[in-house]
Amino acid sequence: MALSDKIWLSPPHMSGREMRYIQEAFDNNWVAPAGPHLTAFEAQLARYTGVAHAAALSSGTAAIHLALVLLNVQRDDLVICQSLTFAGSANPIVYQGAKPMFIDSEMATWNICPNALEEALKNCDRKGKKPKALIGVHLYGMPMLTHEILCLSQKYGVPIIEDAAEALGSIYEGKKVGSFGDMSIISFNGNKIITTSGGGALLSKHKDYIDKAHFLAMQARDQAVHYEHSEIGYNYRMSNVCAGIGRGQLEVIEDRVLQRRKNYDWYYNNLSSIPGIGFQIEPKNAHSNRWLTAITMDPNLIDTCPEQLRKHLDLHNIESRPVWKPMHLQPVYKDAPYFGGKNAELLFKRGLCLPSGSNLSEKNLSRITQAIREKLYT
Ligand SMILES: *Cc1c(COP(=O)(O)O)cnc(C)c1O
Repeated sequence: MALSDKIWLSPPHMSGREMRYIQEAFDNNWVAPAGPHLTAFEAQLARYTGVAHAAALSSGTAAIHLALVLLNVQRDDLVICQSLTFAGSANPIVYQGAKPMFIDSEMATWNICPNALEEALKNCDRKGKKPKALIGVHLYGMPMLTHEILCLSQKYGVPIIEDAAEALGSIYEGKKVGSFGDMSIISFNGNKIITTSGGGALLSKHKDYIDKAHFLAMQARDQAVHYEHSEIGYNYRMSNVCAGIGRGQLEVIEDRVLQRRKNYDWYYNNLSSIPGIGFQIEPKNAHSNRWLTAITMDPNLIDTCPEQLRKHLDLHNIESRPVWKPMHLQPVYKDAPYFGGKNAELLFKRGLCLPSGSNLSEKNLSRITQAIREKLYT
């Protein structure tokens, strides 16, 4: 089969509108760091998400790092983090010399479990060591149980960083995700729902945080013509060229959400009748961007395991991926405390992410579901 027949998990999907912005940046020689696209992109992101202030950065991971710096996370501080996620959610905790504490998922949205979270918060309370921050994730675009998590954040006085890296365009109780926490982050990595080729953003309703993020992301240069520094900074700013790509992408975000939701509908309609196949469940008050559609396969009802299915799809030139391996099972985090049961582990063992690009044709969707049925029924 030709490489062009390959179906990727979540490839970039350009709108054709990006080149105009890139050309404009080149024509005006705004190729270097800041510039008008960057300012415009930040304003558009703020408008789109309904969060007042935005800083466009070099990655989603950088955005989480700055959020932790802004919350004054320091050496030996505790930071709570959802275990079932990509390492980019948790690694910045360690950049700060702080200690992650991982939390299990609930089985509906697959996100941070309020019961396990409260258990962890109570435990910290008893020890008199209040966590500095709580990182909850909207996994694969599915909004977390935001109301429950916000209540716990308030009850125990621990600020929330919403990791909305995968969830741009998702909605919870009529508002965009990313607008609930003290801060939130988005990723524009190449596989995300829209891309700047690589990049991220930090959002907050608090202007102070975002002003400070802009300052820290440009090496913390004080007001002076010579380079004066009274704080440690970072080189985390998004470039004006990347922001131009982002502008062209953000114009089509609603289409992208619709297309990804259609992929989910296709999989659901074609696979949910198979005994043992499960999906992430969208609560009534939530609307997921369905960045990735993932299925679970119950080994009591299905002989094929996810890895066998993945290999079978690979033979058909179809890329699929296991669900994220939980952080508390990662060798690098083996000594970190963990609260909860086996849900995250079970989702990892039983889950498989299916191709979910917004440029998937119905012909290709049908190729995928046929290949899945072929494997499960032979
Ligand atoms: C992609 C991702 C990140 C990190 O974003 P980058 O832009 O790749 O640094 C963080 N958290 C989650 C859940 C992600 O999927």
